[in-house]
Amino acid sequence: MISTLLICGGGGSEHEVSLRTADFIERQLRQAEDIALVRVEMDGNGRLTDRNGGVRQLSQDRMLRDENGEAWEVQYVIPSIHGYPGETGDLQSLLELYGIPYYGCGPEASKNCFNKITTKLWLSALGIDNTPYQFLCSNEAEEIGKASMALQEWGQVFVKASNQGSSVGCYKVSSAEELDAALAQAFALSPYVLVEKSLTVRELEVAAYNYEGELVITPPGEVCAPADTFYSYEEKYAEGSRAVTHVEARGLSDAQLGWIKEASRRAFVGLQLKDLSRIDFFLTDDGEIYLNEVNTFPGMTSISMFPKMLENAGHDFSHYLASLIRAAVSRET
Ligand code: ADP
Ligand code: MG
Ligand code: MG
Repeated sequence: MISTLLICGGGGSEHEVSLRTADFIERQLRQAEDIALVRVEMDGNGRLTDRNGGVRQLSQDRMLRDENGEAWEVQYVIPSIHGYPGETGDLQSLLELYGIPYYGCGPEASKNCFNKITTKLWLSALGIDNTPYQFLCSNEAEEIGKASMALQEWGQVFVKASNQGSSVGCYKVSSAEELDAALAQAFALSPYVLVEKSLTVRELEVAAYNYEGELVITPPGEVCAPADTFYSYEEKYAEGSRAVTHVEARGLSDAQLGWIKEASRRAFVGLQLKDLSRIDFFLTDDGEIYLNEVNTFPGMTSISMFPKMLENAGHDFSHYLASLIRAAVSRET
């Protein structure tokens, strides 16, 4: 039996979604006979509690202890956390220090992809097209001036906190008043803010992951937000979401499919991703394709694109995850 610790929740705005992803992963691993799973929830202070509210502690000797001092050896960790500290690379740094193998990208790749500005710098360095943007490093007048200029030039912009996901801290802005409000809210969440040109787009997403030692890049799926809004938090997760998803996007040319696949491969290899990622693209009205973002720990609720695309590629999710765990643990011994 491989003793695997599923850490879920976390301290960010995506805590609830992280629990739903953990439910999905737990269900998937229940089918794997050689994997014993313990699930703990992490709060904003990094405190771990089990299902009964009992406090658990993970220590450098790779042991998970309960309040009575009883210890369980941890051989593998699944950080099922969107946002801080699981998608940001912080938890991964701790696991590296403790020498415990874990699911997903390392600290550096996680950090580079979670920060929307760092991602753009990397994409440019890798020669991968991304949306035009301005970068604000403070909410002082001079910096805010850059945002006003961008709004004037582009007519409509997206203001984004640099360190959020699930569309938290992401605002569509068409007027100076909206810009002020959006910047205030975005700066309340993050020290850096991105102002991006708003484009009319089709939103395409690929799953890129390691399967039996190979890098798999699926054909793009598509998410269609309702015409009156964008792919906001509500449209992603709330009941009554009107967003429609297609596991395979229709009507793309071979050239477009090839471009997306090559850009995904270059991003996966260049950013040194591992195990999983969902790479999101925008296809504009003019036929331009931009890489929007790289999600190192994409949502895995029952309706999420990553597991759906993986299954659509003919891969069984439970087998995929269990074999990554077995391979990582056997490399250890
Ligand atoms: P998150 O990490 O929160 O998902 P995204 O950058 O993917 O942040 O933005 C969330 C959503 O906002 C996108 O899925 C899309 O619907 C919309 N969006 C973001 N940037 C743009 C843009 N430049 N033009 C048009 N729509 C955008
Ligand atoms: Mg994201
Ligand atoms: Mg997104």
